Formats: sequence, C-alpha cells, structure tokens
Amino acid sequence: MTAASAELRFDTGRVCLDLMATMAGRFGTEPVERLRSPQRLREWLTSSGLVPVGSPISVDERWVRRFQAVRALLHRIVHAELSGAADSRDIEHLGRLCLAPPPAPLARRGRDGQLRRAFATEPDCAGLLSLIARDAVTLLTDPPARARLRECAGEDCDLVYLDASRGHRRRWCSSEVCGNRERVARHRRRTVAAQS
Ligand SMILES: [Zn+2]
Repeated sequence: MTAASAELRFDTGRVCLDLMATMAGRFGTEPVERLRSPQRLREWLTSSGLVPVGSPISVDERWVRRFQAVRALLHRIVHAELSGAADSRDIEHLGRLCLAPPPAPLARRGRDGQLRRAFATEPDCAGLLSLIARDAVTLLTDPPARARLRECAGEDCDLVYLDASRGHRRRWCSSEVCGNRERVARHRRRTVAAQS
C-alpha cells in the first residue's frame, strides 16, 4: 500500500459517498482500508466537515467497526441502485439509522469575533451515523442528483461520485488517481503495439 493510496479523500461530492471512499480498490487484489483506527476515523469526521474542528468526541474501536458496517451497507445499496434496485432490508436498515437524533449545531463566537459552528453537546456514534444515513436517503430520493451518480471507470476502482462537471463527462473518481493510471496504461498499450 502506498502512502498516497491510504490518504483520505473528500472529492465524491457527498458525505455518504466520501464514507464509501474510505475503502478503495475492492475490485483489485489489494483493497485499501483508510479507516483503520479511531484516530483515523476522528480525522475523517473533522476533515469531512461532519464534526467541527476542536469538538470533543470519544471515538473508539467500536465506532470504527460501526462506521465500517454502515459503509458496507451504503456500498451495497448505492451499487445495487446504480444497476437496478437495492435489497428492501438494506433500505429499511438505512431508515433505522436515520432515527437516531443527529447532533444539534450552534454558532459560537471565537476570540477573533467570528462565529463558528460547534455542537451543543458531545455527539455520539449513532447521531453521526444518522447524519450520513440522512445524506444517503436525500441523495437516493433526489432524481436529478441520482442522474449524476457515476461509478469510476478505473479498472479496479469501485468509487462512486457525483458528476458536477460541465457536460457531465467526468469519467474518473479522480483524474490524478484513476485518470492518470488509465493514461499510463493506454500509453503502455500503444508502446507495446508499436513494437510488435
Ligand atoms: Zn477511481
């Protein structure tokens, strides 16, 4: 696993898809687990914007396992919906996750006089998973957004993103990662063809 492939990514366009992107290369020989520790999950939670920077959160191994389980659920649902319809039990499970009350935000004035988002109380794991499940429900029930959902064209990449490009012709989850890999492979094929 290279350092770059283990980096957290926030370029799918939705927080529920960003959570799915914390496991990469499921179709390849070396799947990459980017949420491998409580510290990593805490980093993901603040970098994704779900949790305001500086908020106290008690992330532990149990949280990591629950986030990984919800990620697997979202993966099943989103990929099934892209090619047909998700299992109704999975859809019900997603709905149950939404029942937990999400953390209440408030605006707090910092020493510099600027208002910053904070949480009224320390969020729990179920409340944060509820935010992600609600994002998924909103996405799956929004036809214009669904029409822009794309599976990356990269060979062993299963990342899903919202295509917000002009003309809707984005082919890869990331032109730097999968787009670049594809260009290198194409160049190699051309070179081999020219030599034979
Ligand atoms: Zn990709």
